[in-house]
Amino acid sequence: MNTVTRPRILVVGAGFAGVDCVRRLERRLSPHEADVTLVTPFAYQLYLPLLPQVASGVLTPQSIAISLRRSQKYRTRIIPGGAIGVDLRAKVCVIRTITDRIVNEPYDYIVLAPGSITRTFDIPGLTDHAFGMKTLAEAAYIRDHVISQLDLADASEDPAERASRLQFVVVGGGYAGTETAACLQRLTHAAVERYPRLDPALIKWHLIDIAPKLMPELGDKLGRSALEVLRRRGIEVSLGVSIAKAAEEEVTFTDGRVVPTRTLIWTAGVVASPLIGTLDAETVRGRLAVNADMCLPGEDGVFAVGDSAAVPDLAKGEGAVCPPTAQHASRQGKAVAENVIAALRGQPLRPYRHKDLGLVVDLGGADAVSKPLGVELHGVPAQAVARGYHLAALRTNVAKTRVMTNWLLNAVAGDDFVRTGFQARKAAKLKDFEYTDAYLTKEQVREHVEKARSRAV
Ligand SMILES: Cc1cc2nc3c(=O)[nH]c(=O)nc-3n(C[C@H](O)[C@H](O)[C@H](O)COP(=O)(O)OP(=O)(O)OC[C@H]3O[C@@H](n4cnc5c(N)ncnc54)[C@H](O)[C@@H]3O)c2cc1C
Repeated sequence: MNTVTRPRILVVGAGFAGVDCVRRLERRLSPHEADVTLVTPFAYQLYLPLLPQVASGVLTPQSIAISLRRSQKYRTRIIPGGAIGVDLRAKVCVIRTITDRIVNEPYDYIVLAPGSITRTFDIPGLTDHAFGMKTLAEAAYIRDHVISQLDLADASEDPAERASRLQFVVVGGGYAGTETAACLQRLTHAAVERYPRLDPALIKWHLIDIAPKLMPELGDKLGRSALEVLRRRGIEVSLGVSIAKAAEEEVTFTDGRVVPTRTLIWTAGVVASPLIGTLDAETVRGRLAVNADMCLPGEDGVFAVGDSAAVPDLAKGEGAVCPPTAQHASRQGKAVAENVIAALRGQPLRPYRHKDLGLVVDLGGADAVSKPLGVELHGVPAQAVARGYHLAALRTNVAKTRVMTNWLLNAVAGDDFVRTGFQARKAAKLKDFEYTDAYLTKEQVREHVEKARSRAV
């Protein structure tokens, strides 16, 4: 440990886990006890559960991008960039700043909370033609893309082009995919009023999943209830089906159907950030294997939390690992801060334990299903719980007010079909949005750190 200056705590990632960790450290540590640094490519914490509502335009992007600098109490040093490798032996994190400069950040304690990226498979054409639903840029891009399909179909005289532009495919029947399909279908359905030339019968949404059920974590009854809502709205839900291949103007399902479409939204699960792969440490299905106290076994001062870590789920037991949810990430963030402080002060660390509080799924309008504390709800009561939950969970009053005002405005004034065009000419591949090719290999990390060291002596 660095004994000349204050201990350095480095938190990687400003998501649910990272921000909650930093806020707790700021509250519980006096400024002379330790220096806290946060590495994050963006100046906000993204409230991911409402991302589908940004894609559908019910919420503006700004309303779910919560500022990291709202209060004068916040004293953490923020490095604008992404961690691209960690050398555990040298205790150095390698960072690519937003100006593409590569810098080394030494630490005494590191909390890894870089979240996850969209999980893809080796399906021909998938990574070139699918959009993800993980970043604010992706949601904003999808919104522009869907509206441009309506505009282009409206202007086209070619029936085949019209048909392909007005079909949309979402893969993934978890909450992210289900909410995305539900919210965007509402938008295109509402378009009928503003695009009188479009034949409403041509607008078709497909939601497919290889699993036999939608959102199995909701239980059979609520899963069926969500399915009924989607089918009532005209969304074609196909279970036990995935994508065989994707091309620019059509998608082939594994059951042989070929759907003409220019819109493939891929939400079939997540995988830990590629940063975890640079560590040379054990993983559980890609997530960093940590102990119940969120420490990396055998390493001094290394902690990991959130989607990127496999934290044992003590409430479930039997070798279970906490699922990648905001609920766990946020609580792990606070718990890990307490453990970093305990380690710093030579006190015992405490294991993380949290019993799942349930799930809320907003299907747009008055449609929702939720299961707070095991109580199964659907329709308006479920929607009240879902929206109340999100308002309570949003971190700042400004964000709560923005979201509430947006909901109200949308309920009163309906949808607008405005393309910003900001990203119209930019590449729209998954790797561009999620920076999956920005990372170093384990060997490159070591080489880079060693070179920097030898230059310094
Ligand atoms: C569409 C959608 C809907 C969801 N709905 C729900 C829901 O209703 N309920 C629920 O509980 N969960 C929901 N989730 C899951 C939930 O959002 C995640 O489990 C949660 O965000 C995980 O928190 P985290 O802190 O681990 O990661 P994140 O919140 O994703 O934060 C990771 C942060 O790290 C940053 N980062 C990434 N790489 C680097 C790097 N190399 N260096 C520095 N920073 C980096 C990212 O920019 C981000 O700010 C949803 C997810 C999605 C995508």
